[in-house]
Amino acid sequence: MGDFDGLVALVTGGASGIGLATATLLAERGAQVACLDLRADTVREPLVGVPCDVTDDASVRRAVQAVVDRFGRLDIVVNNAGIGAQGTVADNDDAEWHRVLDVNVVGIARVSRAALPHLRQSPSAVIVNTCSVAATAGLPQRALYSASKGAVRALTFAMAADHVHEGIRVNCVNPGTVDTPWVSRLLERADDPEAERKALEARQPMGRLVSPREVAEAIVYLASPTAGASTGVELAVDGGMQNLRLRPR
Ligand code: NAD
Repeated sequence: MGDFDGLVALVTGGASGIGLATATLLAERGAQVACLDLRADTVREPLVGVPCDVTDDASVRRAVQAVVDRFGRLDIVVNNAGIGAQGTVADNDDAEWHRVLDVNVVGIARVSRAALPHLRQSPSAVIVNTCSVAATAGLPQRALYSASKGAVRALTFAMAADHVHEGIRVNCVNPGTVDTPWVSRLLERADDPEAERKALEARQPMGRLVSPREVAEAIVYLASPTAGASTGVELAVDGGMQNLRLRPR
C-alpha cells in the first residue's frame, strides 16, 4: 500500500530529469501517472506518455482530457516542464523572453486552468510547481531564467491563496543544480566537459550536484497527504546553494 493508492497524477516535462524521477516515484508509491511532454514517445510503463506542448492551449486541454478519460479522475498536478536561458538582461531579445516565459510561466497557467475543474472533484487535490533557487537568489548570467522562476514562485503563492477554500493545495520546490540531461547538455558545450563538471561540483556548498531523485522526494512529499496542512510553501532542495552561497567549499 502506498500513500498514493487510487490517486491519479500528471507531471509535465515527465519524460526527462526531475519530471521523470518524480513520475517514477509517484508510481512507486501507488499513483497512476501520466507524463505530459513534447517527447512523450520515450516514456515507458508503468508511466503513461501523453503528447503535450505546454505552450499550446489546445494541446494542453487535449492532454489533460486524455488523462481524465483514461483514469477517470485527476488528483495531483506537477507543473515541471521548463527551459533555460543564459545571459544578462541585455543578451536575450524579445522573442527569447516570450519563448521562455511562455513555457516556464504561462505553461503553468495553461495546465492549471485545464486541470482545476477536475481537481475540484478530488478530496486530495494538490499542485506542485518546479521552481528554482534562481527565484529567490537571482543567479548571475541567468536574468531571464531567474525572472521566469520568480514569477513561478509568486504564482504558486497566489494560486495557493485563490484555491485554499476549494481544498486545493499549491506548493513549489526550489532545486539547486540538479544532475539531469539539462545540466549534461550545458556541460557538453564546454571544451573539457569532465573538468567543467568537477568545477561545477566544487562550486556547490556540498561539493556535489543534487540528484533528480532528491528533488522528486521533495515534490512527492508536498503532494502527499503527509503534507496535508502545507499550502503556499516552498521547499529548497539545493545542497545549501541559496543560504550558504557566500560560503562555497
Ligand atoms: P530536462 O531538460 O531534463 O527535462 C525537461 C522536460 O521538459 C523534457 O522532457 C522536455 O521535453 C520537457 N519540455 C520542455 N518544453 C516543453 C513544452 N513546451 N511542453 C511540454 N514539455 C516540455 O530538465 P530538468 O533539469 O529535469 O528540469 C525540469 C524542471 O526543473 C524545469 O522547470 C527547470 O527549470 C527546473 N530546474 C532544473 C534545475 C537543474 O539544475 N536541472 C535546477 C532548478 C530548477
